[in-house]
Amino acid sequence: MVLSEPGRLEQVAFPVPDVADEGAILEVEAASVCGTDLSLYKGTSNMGVLPVVLGHEVAGTIVDGAAETLDRWGVGVGDRVSPEPYLPCNDCGDCLQGHYHMCSEGRLYGITLPTHVKPSLWGGYGEYMYLHPKSRVHAVSDDISPKAACLSSVIGNGVRWISRKGKVSPGDSVAIVGPGAQGLASTIVAKEAGADPLVVMGLSADEKNLEVGEAVGATHTLYTDEDDVAERAIDIAGGSGFDVVVVTAPAEAAVHLAIDVVRPRGRLVQVGLLGSDASIPLDNIVGDEITLLGGRGQAGDVEKAMNVLERNADDVARINTHTFAIAEAETAIHRQLPGEQFDPDIVHAVLVPGEI
Ligand SMILES: [Zn+2]
Ligand SMILES: [Zn+2]
Repeated sequence: MVLSEPGRLEQVAFPVPDVADEGAILEVEAASVCGTDLSLYKGTSNMGVLPVVLGHEVAGTIVDGAAETLDRWGVGVGDRVSPEPYLPCNDCGDCLQGHYHMCSEGRLYGITLPTHVKPSLWGGYGEYMYLHPKSRVHAVSDDISPKAACLSSVIGNGVRWISRKGKVSPGDSVAIVGPGAQGLASTIVAKEAGADPLVVMGLSADEKNLEVGEAVGATHTLYTDEDDVAERAIDIAGGSGFDVVVVTAPAEAAVHLAIDVVRPRGRLVQVGLLGSDASIPLDNIVGDEITLLGGRGQAGDVEKAMNVLERNADDVARINTHTFAIAEAETAIHRQLPGEQFDPDIVHAVLVPGEI
């Protein structure tokens, strides 16, 4: 399914390339509909290069590939894998230092690799996807469902924010503000890391998301639009606030709440992008010696995420509450955007081949 311009997703056929010399072909089992896909469709993100086959959270089976490429990845034809969204150049300063999510080429499957760059099949919203030899590919066990496996990089984000940035260790109190797929993935990683209490916060409109948060390991959930939410959260954390707060919600109010509930000398990991400048109480950050960290997408975190996924596959699968056929991708998107078709019960949707 090609996003040819904002608001227009169409079915286009491309030839499956010959991969005898390099690269591989993935037969798609599942591709989830990321919030980025929604903003590309709406035209509110300037990240994308159109026209593009959408889909960067993908799992599938390798059906063909060059021996050298497959050897380097340590997989073979018939193996199930999940590729990372980032396609590094492995050559720029950032890539060489392991920060390939900041690669100067900025290549992302399903987002910045347009169809006019051959072989066009750069996204997961399709039957087959081309995997460039420089892809980062992770093997997936047979017992992990496609709808869990395609979230490998989302769990990777959780690993980055909870473990690498937040340095959460057993017994730490953790709050996650924003219960979308990224916040829920962070919840699963925080539970694995031994966070207790583990509080997930969201708007009343996010009721379904908070239910999933509770099912995947939150000890408490709170509505951010109810009175005294900060006091109640601090009480749950034992009176002085949380050791670590991760903000995935793209709202200034969420940042303010996080600063209110993080404990003195705590860590605040800001992930949500506001799209504009925010005014924050900087003196509180100075006075309480709060460590404020920015967090982008995973880089080098999916290896650990695969272990989290293996141990928590059922919980990870719960994030993808709704399943649509790939050919129905536009319906899946409309059901998540404001308008007549909006369905508040959808936490995250996954696309699968064939008919549902
Ligand atoms: Zn994404
Ligand atoms: Zn690079």
